[in-house]
Amino acid sequence: MTQAPTITRSMLEENIALLTFDTPNKGANVLSKSVLQELSDQLDVLEAETGLAGLILASGKPSIFIAGADLREFVASFGAPVEEVQALCQRGQTLFARLSALPLVSVAAINGICVGGGAELAIWCDRRIMTPSPKTEFGFPEVKLGLFPGWGGTVRMPRVAGLGNAVEMITGGESIDAEAAFAMGLISDVAPSDDLLAAAVRLIREEQASGEYLEDRETWRQPVEISETELGFLAATASAMIAQQTHGQYPAPEAALETMLESAAVGAEEACQMEAEGMSRLFGSPVNRALLNVFMITDRNKKDSGLEAKNVKAEKIEHVGVLGAGIMGAGISSANVRRGVAISIFDANPEALARGAKSVVEEAAYDRKTKGVSAEKAVAIAPLLNVASKLEELAGCKLVIEAVVEKADVKKQIFAQLEPLMPPDAILASNTSTLPITDLAADLEHPERFCGIHFFNPVRRMKLVEVIRGEKTSDETVATAVAHMKKIGKMPVVVGDGPGFLVNRLLFPYMNEALELLLDGAPMKDIERAATKFGMPMGPFTLYDLVGLDTAAYAGNTMWTAFPERTLLNPLLPHMVKRGRLGRKTGVGFFSYQNKKGKKTPDPEFDTILKDYKRGEASFTPEELTARLFLPMLLEATRVLTDNIARNPRDVDLGLIYGFGFPPFRGGVLFWADTLGPQKILEMLKPFESLGPRMAPTELLLEMAASGKKFYDQPA
Ligand code: NAD
Repeated sequence: MTQAPTITRSMLEENIALLTFDTPNKGANVLSKSVLQELSDQLDVLEAETGLAGLILASGKPSIFIAGADLREFVASFGAPVEEVQALCQRGQTLFARLSALPLVSVAAINGICVGGGAELAIWCDRRIMTPSPKTEFGFPEVKLGLFPGWGGTVRMPRVAGLGNAVEMITGGESIDAEAAFAMGLISDVAPSDDLLAAAVRLIREEQASGEYLEDRETWRQPVEISETELGFLAATASAMIAQQTHGQYPAPEAALETMLESAAVGAEEACQMEAEGMSRLFGSPVNRALLNVFMITDRNKKDSGLEAKNVKAEKIEHVGVLGAGIMGAGISSANVRRGVAISIFDANPEALARGAKSVVEEAAYDRKTKGVSAEKAVAIAPLLNVASKLEELAGCKLVIEAVVEKADVKKQIFAQLEPLMPPDAILASNTSTLPITDLAADLEHPERFCGIHFFNPVRRMKLVEVIRGEKTSDETVATAVAHMKKIGKMPVVVGDGPGFLVNRLLFPYMNEALELLLDGAPMKDIERAATKFGMPMGPFTLYDLVGLDTAAYAGNTMWTAFPERTLLNPLLPHMVKRGRLGRKTGVGFFSYQNKKGKKTPDPEFDTILKDYKRGEASFTPEELTARLFLPMLLEATRVLTDNIARNPRDVDLGLIYGFGFPPFRGGVLFWADTLGPQKILEMLKPFESLGPRMAPTELLLEMAASGKKFYDQPA
């Protein structure tokens, strides 16, 4: 059976053709090989036509123009010889270039997302128009995948919209809206979607009358118009900015900058050649593979119901009850309100409730543009916010999320009060960080309708949410929790019940090993540097101070109780807690923050404390420090698979990347493990044998070394 085409050709007026992109049965249009072939066939026809004034390219999808190239085809081409990758780029460039050589005016009429290969297609047209819809965006996100545009984006963008704008957009990877695109001359007009095609027709008529598009075609074939001074300034400022953002760990932005600066001096044809060469050097590189993995596992999460069973119905949640109006309760409430979900929030402490409700409004009505609360938004969300004066007001909610103090007896008491009041199909969930879900549900009438929904702090910024299955949690409960988290824009990962669930369980061995290294004699700054050089957003001691040493010590105890054979209870942490050195919140922890700007600075007093706890003055190479920090995390990652805490290695990696900033350019801890291979990991562990079980190879690792299997061999 032949597949229905993505591109259909029709006539809009007697001499204006329209190509509509609309891949059947798919939410998005992507430029797969077959779609590119269709485009080529359509251009064959149009090139043979005489008497056409214009061609409009548009999408049949409501909120996507073209979402880019087909990344699965990219992955399939990994390992292809450099010449083949270059040829792939050149085929795309040659195909799109035909749009700017047709005997007519070509216009991209953009409504919805237009990124990557889609943006390249559009920028090869003579003109572009965008709708003002918030869903309409134009951008080149390739650097986020460790690449840069390879179908002429780095060639056309500087010529059409200026080199400065091109550098900013292509090296930064962020999209822009119609207003910004118009301001930089990237598009000729902004028109609402119901007038988009008519506006494109008007533009074609104007261009035919003025002939300006022909002048531009000639100009854009030439080198970029920019003075030596401007070029030098741009090179210096952009390069410094990129270095600051990438720390040398992401090569694509710098490579894109170099290519654009060099190719600005030559004609478009030669520039295309330089682009293809530069792009082929990045394609299939370790960073490209890792970042594509992050893209793939993120995309997989969007489609994952969280269940192996098919066709489990998720209930639609219109009204959420939130218990506890502290940091987390307020954050959870505004996350719901922001997505149009009504909430009822309750707190036993009326002052905390008032503070929490205020914070919900401030967060949900925040306006990014004005960087303040929008009165208009505040009025709009008011009907969604019910500040409950008693627990009973939450009785009608189909989902209640509890975020009160971390005390099992307090939580259980509230559940006992609330459960009899709730509708028979309602779900109760806890945001607990440490308490076992199965235990919390033990006294409930309906433990099957109970689960953990563990948000991360700050809720506003952290997309990851762990949905935790207790022993008796039903599939329907999980399906509903997952669906609702997606509805409010979160990334739910379904995990099993156990100490630290997934993310904190993996974070702990890494954090604890940092303490062990410190006591063994490694300088704190060397440990911090080993972590950030590996790609962590901050060193472990900076993180301790941020999380709070009291919280960390509590988590340490939980882990020690659960896994005494491989957990060392480090004496330094409780001592610091006793002395009130809790981290940022008390102004001192591993560092001091007692200065005007609250900036992190080394603290000599801490050095004095440390002296009493140090076991020696051993010295470590940077490689040893990295191995000591990250191998325990990797070993724990193998254990969460064996213990069925994580359903899939991809969930582990997603959790670590979005939960605590494991470096995306490594693809995730298990993706990283796969690039090393189990044999190499065993070799890396060998020198640490004397440290005992926490550094001993796990059964799964040994099995994999014997079979030669990789973590990612498990189907997605
Ligand atoms: P918080 O201290 O800021 O807020 C807790 C609120 O619960 C307080 O306002 C308190 O008045 C209220 N409360 C106490 N007893 C109550 C009762 N019987 N009925 C109603 N309200 C009651 O705490 P938080 O940081 O928001 O944490 C709440 C929960 O979320 C805890 O279980 C915690 O482990 C978990 N959690 C916290 C974080 C974090 O980083 N703060 C992250 C993830 C999960």
